Amino acid sequence: MKNREEVVEKLRASAREMLSNKTVDVVIGWGCVTPEQTVATPVFVKSPDDVELLDWNEKCYGNLAAYMTRKEVRALGRVALMVKGCDEKALVVLRRESQIDPSNPPRVIGIACDEDGLGCAKCGTCDVHVPRFADIVISGVTPVPENVPVPAEKRYERLSEFMKQPRENRLAFWMKEFDRCIRCYACRQVCPLCYCERCIAERNKPQAIDSSATPRGNWSWGITRAFHLAGRCIGCGECTRVCPAEIDLSLLNLSLANAAERSFEGFRPGMDPDREGAVGAYSRGDSEEFIR
Ligand code: SF4
Ligand code: SF4
Ligand code: SF4
Repeated sequence: MKNREEVVEKLRASAREMLSNKTVDVVIGWGCVTPEQTVATPVFVKSPDDVELLDWNEKCYGNLAAYMTRKEVRALGRVALMVKGCDEKALVVLRRESQIDPSNPPRVIGIACDEDGLGCAKCGTCDVHVPRFADIVISGVTPVPENVPVPAEKRYERLSEFMKQPRENRLAFWMKEFDRCIRCYACRQVCPLCYCERCIAERNKPQAIDSSATPRGNWSWGITRAFHLAGRCIGCGECTRVCPAEIDLSLLNLSLANAAERSFEGFRPGMDPDREGAVGAYSRGDSEEFIR
């Protein structure tokens, strides 16, 4: 626990300094308003007197990069944003997609995870425990773990197991999963890369997706959103965490990630800031195996 206490101390000191010397107008971070809460709440700190609201612990799941595209947040002025290494990948994609104003980029406060991260499933195959591009990286007393690449076999182990099943079983699995969808759109709201001003699910002239929670509508929604995130999803796992129907979206996201990595010369969204996204870029090396 000592380690995390030290992180919190440094974090609050950095935030206090940035707000006091007016480097930023707001610090967006995680906070635990009550000790009982199981998930940290996003907090927006505008005064150096309120930095005690900021926290860092095993409850800090949310990917706060999702706020970077919200117009209400843009209106707040200069922003400092807390990110974990996994969240930071979303900023890389947002930059490539011109969603971050280069004249007013966020000041990024990176938090280095402990060796075992927050202890959730995705942390076991994470290879960015330490933010790579943040303006400041805060760590505690324990040595910062290295960003050791995780072999693809391990990252896609769950998917490989699933793919061993016959096609009809896999289809039946997904039909059953999406049948439970209640169309709350929490998956979209929490996703840093679902930033469309008007989502296709809201369009009604013509209506692209049946808006009621029917098997057909749910299937269209699930598959359409998956296509929109293909080659872009950074695997932060937030959509899975917030889904009230406990739909295994992480398995679907793994499938998207695997397709991008296989088809586009090892492309992994958010890993390389100098590399063009898979969507919208063309390379003669593309395998095009999916074009029949
Ligand atoms: S689709 Fe899910 S896992 Fe992928 S970036 Fe969005 S919230 Fe994160
Ligand atoms: S599901 Fe598609 S259209 Fe809707 S917000 Fe996400 S990317 Fe945009
Ligand atoms: S969060 Fe789950 S239940 Fe809600 S729309 Fe997304 S998939 Fe459906």
